[in-house]
Amino acid sequence: MMHKITLIPGDGIGPEVSLAAKRCIEATGVKISWEEAIAGEDALKKYGELLPRATLESIKKNKVAIKGPIVTPIGEGFRSVNVAIRHALDLYASVRPAKIYRGVRSLYKDIDLVVIRENSEDLYAGIEFEEGRPESKNLIKEIEKYSNKKIRLDSGISIKSISRYASERIVRFAFEYALKFNRKKVTIVHKANIMKFTDGLFLKTGREVAKDYKDRIIFEEAIVDNMAMQLVQKPQNYDCLVLPNLYGDIISDLCAGLVGGLGVAPGANIGNEMAVFEAVHGSAPKYKGLNKVNPTAMILSGVLMLRYIGEGKAADRLEEAVKEVLSEGKFVTYDLKADRNDPTSVGTQEMADAIIAELK
Ligand code: NAD
Repeated sequence: MMHKITLIPGDGIGPEVSLAAKRCIEATGVKISWEEAIAGEDALKKYGELLPRATLESIKKNKVAIKGPIVTPIGEGFRSVNVAIRHALDLYASVRPAKIYRGVRSLYKDIDLVVIRENSEDLYAGIEFEEGRPESKNLIKEIEKYSNKKIRLDSGISIKSISRYASERIVRFAFEYALKFNRKKVTIVHKANIMKFTDGLFLKTGREVAKDYKDRIIFEEAIVDNMAMQLVQKPQNYDCLVLPNLYGDIISDLCAGLVGGLGVAPGANIGNEMAVFEAVHGSAPKYKGLNKVNPTAMILSGVLMLRYIGEGKAADRLEEAVKEVLSEGKFVTYDLKADRNDPTSVGTQEMADAIIAELK
């Protein structure tokens, strides 16, 4: 079967790691017709906008995309192309596996967990009021009236809202994911002891959803600060974590750090109808065009994509090939060598070549 997939190369190192991933995916033999679409700096130059409508339309049509990282210009009023894509396509679940591969330096052994982060609301919804503006002062007065609490007039305000609807669907997604991928336990992470009406609702809704999976998946609860400590001390105790947006962002980076860092951390943004796969790392502009950075995160994002489109066997073969190359430690990029100046390290495309050569 021919799969039609949107490919967004991205900015900075994006085109290099995207090319490496595309070559590895194609080498599995899975038939893919790629539709290339642009977003980020190229799109800004060509069309005067960071996220052209044609790019969104391509993803909507094909239902699956893989994208390289995209620069977020600082202070230009545009929040982030990545956040815009997630919102526009309602990709409400961010899925970030954190797995130890032999050959990748880490303080730990045997971590294999997945962080599932709610992607659509919480403090990331972008509802903000700047310090000093009349509407901010009015809002502060209104809040004081209703809450009976004082807020300094020179405050900026960011709104945190968490709904029953979004909580229900993300926790259900986490349980369904756990069932599909033979995971045993879902841990819901929150700060409901302090934020009773937002995190409290997330937790309460999560508990209700968990009843539907009783006897099949273990359900646990953890307070986010304690979770951070537990993950550093005993990451092996965790399997599938489900979190609201902000905690999910922080904890998923923590988990990427546990298993060896950004170079090997893949991700996916999934909705009910479509999905966009991308590495956790950004566009690392200082390495642009040097054929130097690690393609593993992007290739493993490709592995997640292959599983999503039903090509599980090809996904397993590609993951095995990545494992081989990592554990051998020979044809790997500088960041995977014990000494980052090791002259035997290879470039981005050469590491991809080694992975392709291992594909069985
Ligand atoms: P970054 O992830 O781009 O880079 C931070 C550092 O991590 C790099 O300097 C490099 O040392 C290392 N690194 C990252 N990817 C690597 C790889 N594949 N191999 C080896 N080392 C790697 O983070 P940043 O510098 O904070 O962000 C740069 C730009 O990327 C910003 O504009 C940011 O908004 C954007 N960004 C985009 C995404 C996305 O598209 N999903 C995610 C994060 C950041």
